[in-house]
Amino acid sequence: MAFRGCHLAALFATLAFVRIPPCATGAEVKELKFLVKGSAPQPYELLFIKDGNSLTAICNCPAGEHGNFCKHRISLLDGKPKGLVSDNAEQVAVVVEWLVGTDVETALLELRVVEKDKAAPKADLVAAKRKLARAMNS
Ligand SMILES: [Zn+2]
Repeated sequence: MAFRGCHLAALFATLAFVRIPPCATGAEVKELKFLVKGSAPQPYELLFIKDGNSLTAICNCPAGEHGNFCKHRISLLDGKPKGLVSDNAEQVAVVVEWLVGTDVETALLELRVVEKDKAAPKADLVAAKRKLARAMNS
């Protein structure tokens, strides 16, 4: 999915639940933002965008900014956000619902399989994380 101007607007919008009017292309785009306290003094910003069957997850932690896998988005998608500091914990369940049927869910399930397999080569784990990161970024 292209990173459209309306998504950028939401990225810089306030912490509260942001309802963005539909993009010019038609389908309703829904967005939710969370703040998660990680290792940095400032909490990381997580933005989840549901656009039709596509789920995009963005995190501004160092790994996320480089398009890499990060645990912040995964813990939220798991419904167990560690270090959530925004006051919208009840909206985590919405993001978990958004995950269903997306390529992000498929990639996450594949990663879980590799993680459980103690005999899996490390390269498989790296590949699964990379695939998941790609799915979240698009
Ligand atoms: Zn992150």
